[in-house]
Amino acid sequence: MIIAIVGGGLAAATAATELRDHGFDGEVVIYSAEDHLPYERPPLSKAVLLGDADAGSTQVHDATWYDENGVRLERGVKVVSIDPTTRTLRTEPVAGGDGSEHSYNKLLLATGSVPRHFPLADRVADPLYLRTVEDNARLLAALKPGATVVIVGAGWIGLEVASAARHHGAEVTVYEVADLPLVSVLGPEIAQLFADLHRFHGVDLRLGTPVDEAALASADAVVVGVGAMPLTQLADDAGLEVDGGVLVDETLRTSAPDIYAIGDVASQQHPVLGRRIRVEHWDTAIEQGKVAAHNLLGEGEPYTHLPYFFTDQYDLGMEYFGSVGPDGYDRVDIEGDTDVAHGGAFRAYWVKDGVVQAAMHANDWDSSDAVRDSVGTER
Ligand code: FAD
Repeated sequence: MIIAIVGGGLAAATAATELRDHGFDGEVVIYSAEDHLPYERPPLSKAVLLGDADAGSTQVHDATWYDENGVRLERGVKVVSIDPTTRTLRTEPVAGGDGSEHSYNKLLLATGSVPRHFPLADRVADPLYLRTVEDNARLLAALKPGATVVIVGAGWIGLEVASAARHHGAEVTVYEVADLPLVSVLGPEIAQLFADLHRFHGVDLRLGTPVDEAALASADAVVVGVGAMPLTQLADDAGLEVDGGVLVDETLRTSAPDIYAIGDVASQQHPVLGRRIRVEHWDTAIEQGKVAAHNLLGEGEPYTHLPYFFTDQYDLGMEYFGSVGPDGYDRVDIEGDTDVAHGGAFRAYWVKDGVVQAAMHANDWDSSDAVRDSVGTER
């Protein structure tokens, strides 16, 4: 049996690992448009951008792992079409050259996402985005002491870049159209703490303010962090159901029986949350990679794991578990010291109808398991 994995990120590499760990001894091929060994992206806006680690340290496995485990990694190779009826796919080298056709028995889509484009930035500058190791190297080179850096968007990427830029001594201005950073995820109570933290560290945070051409033109470097777009075109062209992500059922199976999808690109009908959700987090790439591997081997295991993410900004480390649904929350309970700029540590619980929907801690690592376990309990 041949299992083809399309996309060479963390989700793809984890699925390949789990296939072998689970005893699968057939063929496993990973087609990866990037020329690198599969790597993890979170350090690209944290340790690597701070200059504390090199990009090579983010690899999921070294090259020998793929040889020793008989996983064929086709680097710099893009899958350009999939035919679910004949179970074939077509590849082309990214660098150019002849394409070729390959058969598969089961296929896993793990094409991930790319930064959302911000056209205004093209008009006035050579804007920097952050997704790949190449992006990271360009950005790191621009974060010089005294350089003026304009960041468009106060989401996770924008704020982590702001933190790294301040670390390097750059002058940072962040433009955000919403009234608070991260407010759609965290709500105003906790979002305010992130605004305070960045201002404490000298970031000129302009909230409720769309960036204009003059601001972009005046900066030494412009960094765009306005969200990510799932790479769904391949699935769409193959006739799979797509709606803001590749639609998968509880077992991560797409509308084609032998094709599964995971990671940033997959929009899952989540059995515990009772709604469809697409999650752009490191942990989801890993956990879905494991379950998809089992299901490619015929196990039919539902993916029930709840979303989890983390961020590091200045001296703040936080972990967030669960997900607040579209109906929002009734209240957020905060325990501890929220003055994170001065070493405060706290826990927060988002409660709806007396049940914890999501919970987080900031700088309170000993409480991590308890905070995670609180999700879904009465409060
Ligand atoms: P990706 O990592 O996007 O990998 C997909 C791969 O598939 C890419 O290499 C792409 O080139 C390749 N590909 C796409 N199309 C094709 C094709 N047709 N043929 C062949 N190959 C193809 N998450 C957190 O939870 N916490 C964090 O702190 C955090 N920090 C982050 C920081 C940065 C800078 C970035 C960019 C992301 C961060 N994330 C974080 C998100 C996390 O990295 C993603 O959720 C994760 O990378 C998703 O993995 P993936 O394998 O689904 O997709």
